[in-house]
Amino acid sequence: MANSQSCKYNVLRNEKYGRYLVANKDLDSGELIFTDIPFVVGPKPDSPPLCLGCYASVENSLCLKCSWPICSSECEKAQSHVGECEVFSTANVRFQNVNDWTASAPQLDCITPLRLLLAKEKDPERWQQELNVMETHNEARQQRPSWAADQANIVDFLVDHCKLGRKFDKELVQRVCGILEINTVEIPSRGGFSIRAVYPRLAIAAHSCVPNIVHTILLSDYQVQVRAAVPIKSGETLHLCYTHALSPTLFRREFLQESKFFNCECPRCADPTELGTHLSTLKCNKCDNGVILSTNPLDNDAPWMCTESNCEFKTSGAAMQKMLAVVQAEADQLDVLEPGPQAIEQREAFLKKYKSVFHPRHSLMLSIKQALGQLYGRVEGYNIDELPDIMLERKVEFCRLVLKTLDTIMPGESRMRGMVLYELHAPIMYMARNEFSAGTLTQEKLKDRLQEPIQYLADAARILMREDPQSPEGITGQIAYHSMEQLKASLDSL
Ligand SMILES: [Zn+2]
Ligand SMILES: [Zn+2]
Ligand SMILES: [Zn+2]
Ligand SMILES: [Zn+2]
Repeated sequence: MANSQSCKYNVLRNEKYGRYLVANKDLDSGELIFTDIPFVVGPKPDSPPLCLGCYASVENSLCLKCSWPICSSECEKAQSHVGECEVFSTANVRFQNVNDWTASAPQLDCITPLRLLLAKEKDPERWQQELNVMETHNEARQQRPSWAADQANIVDFLVDHCKLGRKFDKELVQRVCGILEINTVEIPSRGGFSIRAVYPRLAIAAHSCVPNIVHTILLSDYQVQVRAAVPIKSGETLHLCYTHALSPTLFRREFLQESKFFNCECPRCADPTELGTHLSTLKCNKCDNGVILSTNPLDNDAPWMCTESNCEFKTSGAAMQKMLAVVQAEADQLDVLEPGPQAIEQREAFLKKYKSVFHPRHSLMLSIKQALGQLYGRVEGYNIDELPDIMLERKVEFCRLVLKTLDTIMPGESRMRGMVLYELHAPIMYMARNEFSAGTLTQEKLKDRLQEPIQYLADAARILMREDPQSPEGITGQIAYHSMEQLKASLDSL
């Protein structure tokens, strides 16, 4: 595997990352570096009841053989389910009925660990080579309340209740819980719920908050494809971003510490301005021009101060964290709104409310602007062909702001960039057409102006057509491609 001729990376080891991947040849942006099949796929912790075959939502629908959630007779026979089906039906351990089929069901937390144990039995060699060497951080995990919960809910449940003690001891099951906690990635599923998977090769890639590789999941077999996001030189470390790229430093580092047990000290984390993107920057309301930045972003407890030398504003890291959490919760509320005029108007109200608190490119503001960049032109009352120029311009402004930030923190060919480029093409195209209809643009100038949206569509199609054709991004990629062809054809006929 790692030594095969076509292999484009080497596995190295150092103190900081443990094992990590390094390019062993120059790579082009978008180039496929490797693919990997998951060692295990299954529900995430705290999932609501879902079909253990296809991961669609289910209600009162159980497997006839084992009585665990399954949507159809076809899914009863799904490869993913047969192993646990056998275990549960042999031990006569049933899924306990729930009142609310949309609430999280901790009973399901044992499924993915059980599948990992069964996969180990089936492929002991791959387990030994690729899984057994994985980090578990069990010493640190033992200090956390989740350890006891896992012990009761997963370890004791599987070993005692499901009578697996003869095959698997409790120490191994805790180890499996650790492997899953540290090494799984969240992936989309055919059924709609997001689930988790362990990709042994992908798991070796080191983290950076400015990644240079991206990954795509195919929904048919959950294969992962790993590509270069930017040109990568031979010898460079391959970096994946394990956390949400648009989050502010405090949230990213907290997530990485909580879930991956390390303190990120990447250049982006180390810079109070986040490499000039201002994703963590607040405005000072004690003076005119100051902004508020952490005095040491690598220390969550470090105070935050105003940048103006004659301004004395200062607050604690803890207070900043609390304030961000409150506003984040408010922003999260907006995500549950149905797409409609409200979805736009309430987000605009949010931007207005926090305009004097946050830098215009602060993570919280930018995420709202990203959503608005998508919503303008797409919801009732704001359809693209009836939007006034001022709102088309607003859509353009928001999309460009997101792209500008991505240039720094996620340079190159990412899903997010593809989706934003697709959104950006429409208002630019409509503004040019509006001017042409109003007679303020000649036909020649119209042709010139439409080159820009054609380029955006071409870029969006190239990036997004690498995604699974059934995924929202894959579908957008195909639409982008056809829109580009249509637009080109309409120019030719002018
Ligand atoms: Zn199903
Ligand atoms: Zn079953
Ligand atoms: Zn970082
Ligand atoms: Zn100030």
